[in-house]
Amino acid sequence: MMHEKPPQSAAQPDECQLLTRRDFVHNSVLTAASVGVLHPFALAARESPAIISGQKPRNIIFCVSDGMSAGVLTLAENYSLLTRGRGTQWLQMAACRETVHALMDTASADSLVTDSAAASSAWSCGERVQNGSLNITPEGKEKQPIGMAIHAKGRKFGLVTTATVTHATPAGFAVCQMNRADEAEIALKYLGAVDVVLGGGRAFFDPAKRNDRKDLFQTARDNGYTLCLNRRELLDATGAERLFGTFSDSHLPYVIDLPKTPGLEETIPSLAEMSRVAIQVLNRHPEGFLLQIEGARIDHAAHQNDIATLLREQLAFDDAVAVALEFAAASEDTLVIVTTDHGNSNPGLIGMGENYSQSTQAFFKVTAITESFDSIMQWGRQRAKTRDGLQSNELEARIFNSLKILPSEEELPLLLQALHDKPVEDLNRQLGSFYGILGQITGNHTGVEWIGNSHTADPAILHATGPGADEFRGWIRNDTVGRKLCALAGV
Ligand SMILES: [Zn+2]
Repeated sequence: MMHEKPPQSAAQPDECQLLTRRDFVHNSVLTAASVGVLHPFALAARESPAIISGQKPRNIIFCVSDGMSAGVLTLAENYSLLTRGRGTQWLQMAACRETVHALMDTASADSLVTDSAAASSAWSCGERVQNGSLNITPEGKEKQPIGMAIHAKGRKFGLVTTATVTHATPAGFAVCQMNRADEAEIALKYLGAVDVVLGGGRAFFDPAKRNDRKDLFQTARDNGYTLCLNRRELLDATGAERLFGTFSDSHLPYVIDLPKTPGLEETIPSLAEMSRVAIQVLNRHPEGFLLQIEGARIDHAAHQNDIATLLREQLAFDDAVAVALEFAAASEDTLVIVTTDHGNSNPGLIGMGENYSQSTQAFFKVTAITESFDSIMQWGRQRAKTRDGLQSNELEARIFNSLKILPSEEELPLLLQALHDKPVEDLNRQLGSFYGILGQITGNHTGVEWIGNSHTADPAILHATGPGADEFRGWIRNDTVGRKLCALAGV
Protein backbone atom coordinates (compact mmCIF):
# COMPACT_ATOMS: atom_id res chain seq x y z
CA MET A 1 0.00 0.00 0.00
CA MET A 2 1.49 3.31 -1.09
CA HIS A 3 1.91 5.98 1.57
CA GLU A 4 -0.28 9.07 1.08
CA LYS A 5 1.64 11.60 3.13
CA PRO A 6 5.28 12.57 2.83
CA PRO A 7 7.55 11.35 5.63
CA GLN A 8 8.19 13.96 8.32
CA SER A 9 11.71 14.67 9.45
CA ALA A 10 12.25 14.68 13.19
CA ALA A 11 15.02 17.27 12.98
CA GLN A 12 13.66 20.65 14.06
CA PRO A 13 15.51 23.97 14.01
CA ASP A 14 16.79 25.17 17.40
CA GLU A 15 16.21 21.79 18.90
CA CYS A 16 19.29 19.84 19.79
CA GLN A 17 18.04 16.30 19.68
CA LEU A 18 21.40 14.89 18.94
CA LEU A 19 23.39 15.00 22.09
CA THR A 20 21.44 13.86 25.07
CA ARG A 21 22.61 11.08 27.29
CA ARG A 22 19.42 9.13 26.70
CA ASP A 23 19.85 9.24 22.92
CA PHE A 24 23.45 8.22 23.12
CA VAL A 25 22.76 5.22 25.24
CA HIS A 26 19.78 4.34 23.05
CA ASN A 27 21.77 4.73 19.84
CA SER A 28 24.68 2.84 21.26
CA VAL A 29 22.53 -0.11 22.19
CA LEU A 30 21.04 -0.13 18.71
CA THR A 31 24.45 0.12 17.11
CA ALA A 32 25.95 -2.45 19.42
CA ALA A 33 23.16 -4.85 18.57
CA SER A 34 23.71 -4.41 14.85
CA VAL A 35 27.47 -4.64 15.10
CA GLY A 36 27.50 -7.43 17.63
CA VAL A 37 29.84 -5.68 20.06
CA LEU A 38 29.28 -3.18 22.84
CA HIS A 39 31.41 -0.17 22.15
CA PRO A 40 33.05 1.78 24.95
CA PHE A 41 31.79 5.27 24.06
CA ALA A 42 28.24 4.53 25.18
CA LEU A 43 29.12 4.56 28.82
CA ALA A 44 30.88 7.89 28.90
CA ALA A 45 28.32 9.96 26.98
CA ARG A 46 27.73 13.37 28.49
CA GLU A 47 24.80 15.77 28.45
CA SER A 48 25.66 18.28 25.75
CA PRO A 49 28.48 19.31 23.45
CA ALA A 50 30.22 22.64 23.50
CA ILE A 51 31.94 24.91 21.07
CA ILE A 52 34.77 26.29 23.08
CA SER A 53 36.13 29.37 21.32
CA GLY A 54 39.90 29.63 21.25
CA GLN A 55 40.38 26.04 22.38
CA LYS A 56 42.28 23.57 20.29
CA PRO A 57 40.88 20.07 19.84
CA ARG A 58 42.93 17.07 20.92
CA ASN A 59 41.32 14.98 18.21
CA ILE A 60 39.95 15.90 14.78
CA ILE A 61 37.51 13.65 12.92
CA PHE A 62 36.95 14.85 9.36
CA CYS A 63 33.97 13.14 7.70
CA VAL A 64 33.60 13.41 3.91
CA SER A 65 30.60 12.30 1.91
CA ASP A 66 32.43 12.37 -1.41
CA GLY A 67 30.56 14.03 -4.26
CA MET A 68 27.45 14.81 -2.23
CA SER A 69 25.28 17.43 -3.91
CA ALA A 70 23.18 19.52 -1.53
CA GLY A 71 19.92 17.85 -2.60
CA VAL A 72 21.16 14.52 -1.27
CA LEU A 73 20.69 15.70 2.33
CA THR A 74 16.92 15.84 2.09
CA LEU A 75 16.65 12.83 -0.22
CA ALA A 76 18.65 10.80 2.31
CA GLU A 77 16.54 12.10 5.19
CA ASN A 78 13.33 10.99 3.50
CA TYR A 79 14.80 7.70 2.32
CA SER A 80 15.97 7.00 5.87
CA LEU A 81 12.54 7.83 7.31
CA LEU A 82 10.90 5.51 4.79
CA THR A 83 13.27 2.59 5.08
CA ARG A 84 14.52 2.82 8.69
CA GLY A 85 11.79 4.79 10.46
CA ARG A 86 14.24 7.44 11.63
CA GLY A 87 15.96 10.48 10.19
CA THR A 88 19.65 11.02 9.54
CA GLN A 89 22.33 11.89 12.03
CA TRP A 90 23.63 14.63 9.74
CA LEU A 91 20.33 16.55 9.78
CA GLN A 92 20.03 16.06 13.55
CA MET A 93 23.50 17.51 13.84
CA ALA A 94 22.45 20.44 11.62
CA ALA A 95 19.38 21.05 13.79
CA CYS A 96 21.53 21.32 16.90
CA ARG A 97 21.96 24.91 18.12
CA GLU A 98 25.65 24.36 18.89
CA THR A 99 26.47 23.15 15.38
CA VAL A 100 28.36 25.62 13.20
CA HIS A 101 27.22 25.92 9.57
CA ALA A 102 29.23 26.88 6.53
CA LEU A 103 28.98 26.83 2.77
CA MET A 104 32.26 26.04 1.06
CA ASP A 105 33.66 27.33 -2.22
CA THR A 106 35.15 24.15 -3.73
CA ALA A 107 37.13 25.42 -6.76
CA SER A 108 40.62 24.07 -7.52
CA ALA A 109 43.69 25.94 -8.83
CA ASP A 110 42.79 25.28 -12.45
CA SER A 111 39.03 24.83 -12.55
CA LEU A 112 35.78 26.05 -11.06
CA VAL A 113 34.94 22.34 -10.81
CA THR A 114 37.32 20.44 -8.56
CA ASP A 115 38.21 16.79 -8.56
CA SER A 116 38.67 14.86 -5.31
CA ALA A 117 42.47 15.11 -5.35
CA ALA A 118 42.58 18.90 -5.50
CA ALA A 119 39.71 19.17 -3.00
CA SER A 120 41.38 16.93 -0.42
CA SER A 121 44.71 18.72 -0.96
CA ALA A 122 43.09 22.12 -0.25
CA TRP A 123 41.84 20.82 3.12
CA SER A 124 45.15 19.15 3.79
CA CYS A 125 47.87 21.67 2.92
CA GLY A 126 45.77 24.85 2.82
CA GLU A 127 46.52 25.59 -0.84
CA ARG A 128 44.63 25.03 -4.05
CA VAL A 129 46.34 22.67 -6.49
CA GLN A 130 45.47 21.51 -9.99
CA ASN A 131 42.90 18.78 -10.55
CA GLY A 132 44.49 15.33 -10.45
CA SER A 133 47.44 16.28 -8.24
CA LEU A 134 47.94 15.75 -4.52
CA ASN A 135 49.57 18.52 -2.45
CA ILE A 136 51.82 19.76 -5.27
CA THR A 137 51.24 23.39 -6.25
CA PRO A 138 50.91 24.51 -9.90
CA GLU A 139 54.53 25.75 -9.55
CA GLY A 140 55.61 22.20 -8.67
CA LYS A 141 56.21 22.83 -4.98
CA GLU A 142 55.42 19.99 -2.56
CA LYS A 143 53.31 21.01 0.44
CA GLN A 144 53.24 18.89 3.57
CA PRO A 145 49.90 17.04 3.91
CA ILE A 146 48.17 17.52 7.26
CA GLY A 147 48.37 13.83 8.19
CA MET A 148 52.12 13.75 7.71
CA ALA A 149 52.50 16.93 9.76
CA ILE A 150 50.47 15.33 12.56
CA HIS A 151 52.58 12.17 12.33
CA ALA A 152 55.80 14.23 12.51
CA LYS A 153 54.52 15.71 15.78
CA GLY A 154 54.20 12.22 17.26
CA ARG A 155 50.43 12.17 17.12
CA LYS A 156 48.21 9.53 15.50
CA PHE A 157 46.71 9.62 12.03
CA GLY A 158 44.08 7.40 10.42
CA LEU A 159 42.29 6.97 7.09
CA VAL A 160 39.01 5.09 6.64
CA THR A 161 37.24 4.86 3.30
CA THR A 162 34.91 2.73 1.19
CA ALA A 163 37.14 3.34 -1.87
CA THR A 164 40.65 2.02 -2.33
CA VAL A 165 42.62 3.35 0.64
CA THR A 166 44.99 4.98 -1.83
CA HIS A 167 42.18 6.88 -3.60
CA ALA A 168 42.33 10.65 -3.99
CA THR A 169 40.47 11.78 -0.86
CA PRO A 170 42.40 9.71 1.71
CA ALA A 171 45.65 10.17 -0.23
CA GLY A 172 45.16 13.94 -0.09
CA PHE A 173 45.69 13.87 3.68
CA ALA A 174 48.79 11.69 3.40
CA VAL A 175 50.98 12.15 0.32
CA CYS A 176 52.43 14.47 -2.28
CA GLN A 177 51.90 12.91 -5.72
CA MET A 178 51.75 14.53 -9.15
CA ASN A 179 49.14 12.08 -10.42
CA ARG A 180 46.39 10.66 -8.21
CA ALA A 181 46.18 7.60 -10.47
CA ASP A 182 49.60 6.36 -9.24
CA GLU A 183 47.99 4.36 -6.43
CA ALA A 184 50.75 1.72 -6.33
CA GLU A 185 53.21 4.57 -5.66
CA ILE A 186 50.90 6.12 -3.07
CA ALA A 187 50.67 2.77 -1.25
CA LEU A 188 54.45 2.83 -0.71
CA LYS A 189 54.13 6.09 1.22
CA TYR A 190 51.46 5.01 3.74
CA LEU A 191 52.98 2.30 5.91
CA GLY A 192 54.74 3.68 8.94
CA ALA A 193 53.19 7.12 8.61
CA VAL A 194 49.46 6.35 8.67
CA ASP A 195 48.62 4.50 11.91
CA VAL A 196 45.21 3.21 10.82
CA VAL A 197 44.44 2.37 7.18
CA LEU A 198 41.03 0.78 6.49
CA GLY A 199 39.10 0.32 3.24
CA GLY A 200 39.54 -1.27 -0.20
CA GLY A 201 42.53 -1.37 -2.54
CA ARG A 202 44.26 -4.56 -1.40
CA ALA A 203 45.74 -5.05 -4.88
CA PHE A 204 48.06 -2.05 -4.42
CA PHE A 205 49.77 -3.78 -1.47
CA ASP A 206 49.79 -7.33 -2.83
CA PRO A 207 53.13 -8.61 -4.21
CA ALA A 208 51.23 -10.80 -6.68
CA LYS A 209 49.51 -7.75 -8.18
CA ARG A 210 52.17 -5.03 -7.92
CA ASN A 211 54.48 -4.58 -10.92
CA ASP A 212 57.51 -4.28 -8.64
CA ARG A 213 56.45 -7.44 -6.70
CA LYS A 214 57.02 -5.63 -3.39
CA ASP A 215 55.22 -7.28 -0.47
CA LEU A 216 53.63 -4.35 1.36
CA PHE A 217 51.77 -6.71 3.70
CA GLN A 218 55.19 -7.73 5.02
CA THR A 219 56.18 -4.05 5.22
CA ALA A 220 53.04 -3.48 7.29
CA ARG A 221 53.95 -6.32 9.67
CA ASP A 222 57.51 -5.03 9.94
CA ASN A 223 56.10 -1.64 10.92
CA GLY A 224 54.00 -3.02 13.76
CA TYR A 225 50.61 -3.14 12.04
CA THR A 226 47.94 -5.69 12.83
CA LEU A 227 46.60 -6.89 9.48
CA CYS A 228 42.95 -7.70 8.85
CA LEU A 229 41.36 -9.02 5.68
CA ASN A 230 37.73 -9.43 6.71
CA ARG A 231 35.08 -7.99 9.00
CA ARG A 232 35.64 -10.48 11.84
CA GLU A 233 39.36 -9.79 11.96
CA LEU A 234 38.64 -6.07 12.04
CA LEU A 235 36.18 -6.30 14.92
CA ASP A 236 38.75 -8.34 16.87
CA ALA A 237 41.53 -5.82 16.29
CA THR A 238 40.51 -3.02 18.65
CA GLY A 239 43.61 -3.63 20.80
CA ALA A 240 45.99 -3.12 17.87
CA GLU A 241 48.87 -0.66 18.12
CA ARG A 242 48.57 0.07 14.40
CA LEU A 243 45.95 -1.26 12.05
CA PHE A 244 45.99 -2.08 8.35
CA GLY A 245 42.81 -3.55 6.89
CA THR A 246 41.92 -4.02 3.24
CA PHE A 247 38.69 -5.85 2.49
CA SER A 248 38.59 -5.87 -1.31
CA ASP A 249 41.06 -5.63 -4.20
CA SER A 250 39.43 -2.44 -5.46
CA HIS A 251 36.68 -0.27 -3.93
CA LEU A 252 34.40 -1.93 -1.38
CA PRO A 253 31.21 -3.24 -3.04
CA TYR A 254 28.13 -1.03 -3.04
CA VAL A 255 26.03 -1.62 0.08
CA ILE A 256 22.94 -2.26 -2.07
CA ASP A 257 24.69 -5.16 -3.85
CA LEU A 258 26.08 -6.94 -0.77
CA PRO A 259 23.18 -9.40 -0.26
CA LYS A 260 23.48 -10.74 -3.83
CA THR A 261 26.86 -12.37 -3.21
CA PRO A 262 26.79 -15.05 -0.48
CA GLY A 263 29.25 -14.37 2.31
CA LEU A 264 29.95 -10.77 1.34
CA GLU A 265 28.00 -9.26 4.24
CA GLU A 266 30.19 -11.27 6.62
CA THR A 267 33.39 -10.26 4.85
CA ILE A 268 32.94 -6.55 4.23
CA PRO A 269 32.71 -4.30 7.30
CA SER A 270 30.46 -1.26 7.21
CA LEU A 271 31.95 2.23 7.17
CA ALA A 272 30.58 2.71 10.70
CA GLU A 273 32.32 -0.46 11.91
CA MET A 274 35.62 0.58 10.35
CA SER A 275 35.25 4.06 11.87
CA ARG A 276 34.50 2.71 15.33
CA VAL A 277 37.52 0.40 15.37
CA ALA A 278 39.73 3.14 13.93
CA ILE A 279 38.73 5.53 16.73
CA GLN A 280 39.30 2.86 19.36
CA VAL A 281 42.81 2.13 18.07
CA LEU A 282 43.77 5.79 17.60
CA ASN A 283 42.34 6.83 20.94
CA ARG A 284 44.57 4.39 22.83
CA HIS A 285 47.24 7.06 22.58
CA PRO A 286 46.99 10.18 24.74
CA GLU A 287 48.59 12.51 22.18
CA GLY A 288 45.41 12.86 20.14
CA PHE A 289 44.68 12.00 16.53
CA LEU A 290 43.43 13.06 13.14
CA LEU A 291 41.01 10.68 11.42
CA GLN A 292 39.52 11.12 7.97
CA ILE A 293 36.35 9.08 7.33
CA GLU A 294 35.24 8.98 3.71
CA GLY A 295 31.96 7.71 2.29
CA ALA A 296 33.59 7.44 -1.11
CA ARG A 297 30.99 5.73 -3.19
CA ILE A 298 28.29 8.39 -2.94
CA ASP A 299 30.40 10.02 -5.63
CA HIS A 300 30.59 6.87 -7.74
CA ALA A 301 26.83 6.34 -7.63
CA ALA A 302 26.30 10.00 -8.60
CA HIS A 303 28.57 9.57 -11.63
CA GLN A 304 26.30 6.66 -12.56
CA ASN A 305 23.04 8.60 -11.96
CA ASP A 306 21.96 5.80 -9.62
CA ILE A 307 19.84 7.25 -6.81
CA ALA A 308 19.03 4.14 -4.75
CA THR A 309 22.67 3.07 -4.67
CA LEU A 310 23.72 6.61 -3.77
CA LEU A 311 21.25 6.86 -0.90
CA ARG A 312 22.28 3.50 0.55
CA GLU A 313 25.90 4.72 0.53
CA GLN A 314 24.86 8.02 2.11
CA LEU A 315 23.05 6.22 4.95
CA ALA A 316 26.13 4.05 5.54
CA PHE A 317 28.13 7.28 5.74
CA ASP A 318 25.55 8.72 8.11
CA ASP A 319 26.01 5.75 10.45
CA ALA A 320 29.73 6.52 10.51
CA VAL A 321 28.97 10.17 11.33
CA ALA A 322 26.93 8.89 14.29
CA VAL A 323 29.96 6.96 15.53
CA ALA A 324 32.14 10.07 15.28
CA LEU A 325 29.60 12.25 17.09
CA GLU A 326 29.10 9.70 19.87
CA PHE A 327 32.82 9.59 20.48
CA ALA A 328 33.10 13.39 20.37
CA ALA A 329 30.31 13.81 22.92
CA ALA A 330 32.06 11.42 25.25
CA SER A 331 35.57 12.80 24.82
CA GLU A 332 34.86 16.57 25.08
CA ASP A 333 37.99 17.57 23.15
CA THR A 334 37.18 16.31 19.68
CA LEU A 335 36.35 18.51 16.70
CA VAL A 336 34.02 16.80 14.23
CA ILE A 337 33.57 18.21 10.73
CA VAL A 338 31.00 16.71 8.37
CA THR A 339 31.11 17.87 4.77
CA THR A 340 31.58 16.98 1.10
CA ASP A 341 34.35 17.88 -1.34
CA HIS A 342 32.06 18.85 -4.26
CA GLY A 343 28.65 18.18 -5.73
CA ASN A 344 28.20 15.53 -8.37
CA SER A 345 25.47 15.44 -11.03
CA ASN A 346 23.13 17.23 -8.58
CA PRO A 347 20.27 14.76 -8.15
CA GLY A 348 16.99 16.34 -7.14
CA LEU A 349 13.38 15.36 -6.64
CA ILE A 350 11.39 17.34 -9.17
CA GLY A 351 7.74 18.34 -9.19
CA MET A 352 5.63 15.54 -10.65
CA GLY A 353 1.95 15.82 -11.62
CA GLU A 354 -0.54 18.59 -11.07
CA ASN A 355 0.54 20.81 -8.17
CA TYR A 356 3.44 18.37 -7.77
CA SER A 357 1.01 16.02 -6.10
CA GLN A 358 2.79 12.93 -7.49
CA SER A 359 6.33 13.74 -6.30
CA THR A 360 6.08 12.12 -2.89
CA GLN A 361 4.60 8.89 -4.21
CA ALA A 362 7.15 8.85 -7.00
CA PHE A 363 10.01 9.12 -4.51
CA PHE A 364 8.67 6.12 -2.55
CA LYS A 365 9.58 4.01 -5.59
CA VAL A 366 13.29 4.54 -4.88
CA THR A 367 12.92 2.38 -1.78
CA ALA A 368 11.90 -0.65 -3.89
CA ILE A 369 15.17 -0.71 -5.87
CA THR A 370 17.48 -3.61 -4.94
CA GLU A 371 20.42 -3.57 -7.37
CA SER A 372 22.95 -0.99 -8.52
CA PHE A 373 22.99 0.21 -12.14
CA ASP A 374 26.63 -0.86 -12.20
CA SER A 375 25.71 -4.44 -11.33
CA ILE A 376 22.98 -4.46 -14.01
CA MET A 377 25.46 -3.15 -16.56
CA GLN A 378 28.13 -5.74 -15.67
CA TRP A 379 25.52 -8.47 -16.04
CA GLY A 380 24.28 -7.00 -19.35
CA ARG A 381 27.80 -6.78 -20.80
CA GLN A 382 28.47 -10.40 -19.82
CA ARG A 383 25.21 -11.55 -21.40
CA ALA A 384 25.99 -9.58 -24.57
CA LYS A 385 29.20 -11.61 -24.98
CA THR A 386 27.38 -14.95 -25.00
CA ARG A 387 26.48 -16.79 -28.20
CA ASP A 388 22.83 -15.73 -28.08
CA GLY A 389 23.68 -12.19 -27.02
CA LEU A 390 21.59 -10.08 -24.68
CA GLN A 391 17.91 -10.30 -25.51
CA SER A 392 15.58 -7.37 -25.09
CA ASN A 393 13.09 -9.29 -22.93
CA GLU A 394 15.92 -10.49 -20.68
CA LEU A 395 17.04 -6.93 -20.03
CA GLU A 396 13.46 -5.85 -19.44
CA ALA A 397 12.98 -8.63 -16.85
CA ARG A 398 16.23 -7.81 -15.06
CA ILE A 399 15.32 -4.13 -14.79
CA PHE A 400 11.83 -4.96 -13.59
CA ASN A 401 13.15 -7.36 -10.95
CA SER A 402 15.81 -4.97 -9.68
CA LEU A 403 14.22 -1.52 -10.13
CA LYS A 404 10.50 -2.46 -10.18
CA ILE A 405 10.23 -0.31 -13.29
CA LEU A 406 9.10 -1.37 -16.75
CA PRO A 407 10.96 0.52 -19.50
CA SER A 408 8.70 1.71 -22.34
CA GLU A 409 8.94 0.51 -25.94
CA GLU A 410 10.95 3.62 -26.76
CA GLU A 411 13.24 3.34 -23.75
CA LEU A 412 14.32 -0.30 -23.93
CA PRO A 413 16.08 -0.14 -27.36
CA LEU A 414 18.09 2.87 -26.17
CA LEU A 415 19.33 0.90 -23.17
CA LEU A 416 20.29 -2.07 -25.35
CA GLN A 417 22.10 0.26 -27.72
CA ALA A 418 24.06 1.84 -24.86
CA LEU A 419 24.92 -1.55 -23.39
CA HIS A 420 26.50 -2.47 -26.72
CA ASP A 421 28.58 0.74 -26.58
CA LYS A 422 26.76 2.32 -29.49
CA PRO A 423 26.31 6.10 -29.22
CA VAL A 424 22.89 7.19 -27.95
CA GLU A 425 21.47 10.55 -28.96
CA ASP A 426 20.66 12.79 -26.00
CA LEU A 427 20.51 16.59 -26.13
CA ASN A 428 22.30 16.60 -22.77
CA ARG A 429 25.47 14.88 -24.03
CA GLN A 430 26.54 13.76 -20.55
CA LEU A 431 23.39 11.67 -20.32
CA GLY A 432 23.86 9.73 -23.58
CA SER A 433 25.27 6.61 -21.89
CA PHE A 434 23.85 3.45 -20.31
CA TYR A 435 23.90 5.09 -16.89
CA GLY A 436 22.49 8.37 -18.19
CA ILE A 437 19.66 6.62 -20.05
CA LEU A 438 18.83 4.29 -17.14
CA GLY A 439 18.96 7.26 -14.76
CA GLN A 440 16.45 9.13 -16.91
CA ILE A 441 14.15 6.12 -17.27
CA THR A 442 14.25 5.63 -13.48
CA GLY A 443 13.66 9.35 -13.01
CA ASN A 444 10.50 9.17 -15.10
CA HIS A 445 9.09 6.95 -12.33
CA THR A 446 10.85 8.18 -9.16
CA GLY A 447 10.98 11.91 -9.91
CA VAL A 448 14.72 12.03 -9.22
CA GLU A 449 16.55 13.69 -12.12
CA TRP A 450 20.21 14.55 -12.80
CA ILE A 451 21.95 17.45 -14.53
CA GLY A 452 24.82 15.37 -15.95
CA ASN A 453 27.32 12.71 -14.90
CA SER A 454 30.19 14.69 -13.41
CA HIS A 455 31.28 16.95 -10.56
CA THR A 456 29.70 20.38 -10.14
CA ALA A 457 30.77 23.80 -8.87
CA ASP A 458 27.99 23.98 -6.28
CA PRO A 459 28.85 25.22 -2.79
CA ALA A 460 29.48 22.34 -0.41
CA ILE A 461 27.68 22.08 2.93
CA LEU A 462 29.93 21.91 5.98
CA HIS A 463 28.91 21.36 9.61
CA ALA A 464 31.25 21.44 12.59
CA THR A 465 30.96 20.77 16.31
CA GLY A 466 33.41 20.72 19.21
CA PRO A 467 36.51 22.76 20.09
CA GLY A 468 37.50 24.96 17.14
CA ALA A 469 34.17 24.53 15.30
CA ASP A 470 33.65 28.30 15.47
CA GLU A 471 36.36 28.73 12.83
CA PHE A 472 34.15 27.18 10.16
CA ARG A 473 31.32 29.67 9.83
CA GLY A 474 29.55 31.32 6.92
CA TRP A 475 31.07 31.34 3.43
CA ILE A 476 34.50 29.71 3.36
CA ARG A 477 36.98 28.54 0.70
CA ASN A 478 38.20 24.93 0.78
CA ASP A 479 41.84 26.06 1.14
CA THR A 480 40.85 28.31 4.06
CA VAL A 481 39.33 25.24 5.70
CA GLY A 482 42.73 23.59 5.28
CA ARG A 483 44.64 26.48 6.86
CA LYS A 484 42.26 26.58 9.81
CA LEU A 485 42.49 22.80 10.25
CA CYS A 486 46.29 22.98 10.32
CA ALA A 487 46.19 25.84 12.83
CA LEU A 488 43.78 23.92 15.08
CA ALA A 489 45.95 20.82 14.78
CA GLY A 490 49.00 22.90 15.69
CA VAL A 491 50.91 21.95 12.55
ZN1 LIG B 1 35.36 13.82 -4.55
